[in-house]
Amino acid sequence: MLLRKRPKPLPLRKLEVLIPRTPSYFSCLPDMQQDLAKRMTGYIGEKRVDYHLRSLAKKYTILHDVHLKLPYGNSIQIDSFILTPYAIFIIEIKNYKGTITFDTLLKQLIRDDGEKETGFKYPITQAENHQLHLENWLHDHHFANVPIRYFIAIADPGTIIKVEGDKQGIAKVVTHAEHLPQRILEIDAAYAQSNSANLPVKKISDAILSECEEFDIDILGKYGMTKEMILPGVGCPECGVLAMERQYANWKCRRCGKLSKNAHTRALDVYFLLISDKVTNREYMWFLKINSRHLASRILKSYNLTYFQKGKYWTKKR
Ligand SMILES: [Zn+2]
Repeated sequence: MLLRKRPKPLPLRKLEVLIPRTPSYFSCLPDMQQDLAKRMTGYIGEKRVDYHLRSLAKKYTILHDVHLKLPYGNSIQIDSFILTPYAIFIIEIKNYKGTITFDTLLKQLIRDDGEKETGFKYPITQAENHQLHLENWLHDHHFANVPIRYFIAIADPGTIIKVEGDKQGIAKVVTHAEHLPQRILEIDAAYAQSNSANLPVKKISDAILSECEEFDIDILGKYGMTKEMILPGVGCPECGVLAMERQYANWKCRRCGKLSKNAHTRALDVYFLLISDKVTNREYMWFLKINSRHLASRILKSYNLTYFQKGKYWTKKR
């Protein structure tokens, strides 16, 4: 059963809408664009692996993108979680183009994309840390002796995997995503044959679901941006430029001439995503670049929002 689908990650959604609203002179803009590309590659890889794992959903319980808070302000984010009757499998998903080399002696991962070599955090160490943290988390939630296995799933079937050092050790835990279902089925069958104890799968998955949070970061803070630096305006649904102007009951793009009745709806979503979950009439006028208090108020009233008289703001929360 697929208990938790993979949402499009919040940091990725935020970057997608923040970049077109970042002034072109801002020095961190290239870093933001690079960050967006990297997160998008990761997300595409994750979706690709999800596709392969679908076949296991009939037999096992699957949760994607599990983000759990740990004591002392720490947290773990696990790309995919598979609960079988005998064990928990945690899957770390990696999406690389070219050739990757696991150096088991120096514990480093090197990617060669044909142009240059780049070093990455060693995924095995990352997975082992997650394994340990999860073990502690389960222990804190009164689940004892739960076997936890991990796999590093390589999303792109074209990625060449090389090993310097312990090839067999790496082959045990690193696999192309397409082989993952079979590998899990085999290990699970071995547990079954060895008469392993059955896990309380429903209780464990309920506990994880009830504490699972959506992973988020302070994207403005990360790049040293302030709310005031965000470019206001209504984006054109056709050309994407923040150039929609209010004309009678329509929005019209100064750039391409596109007419739209509801281009402002997306702008409100962006406001809530990037700036705040509260908006006053005045803030909304600034964000939409409109001069009419009445128009702002009329539009805000048309959404399914809650108005707080005391603070004179609207919010999605109720
Ligand atoms: Zn346009």
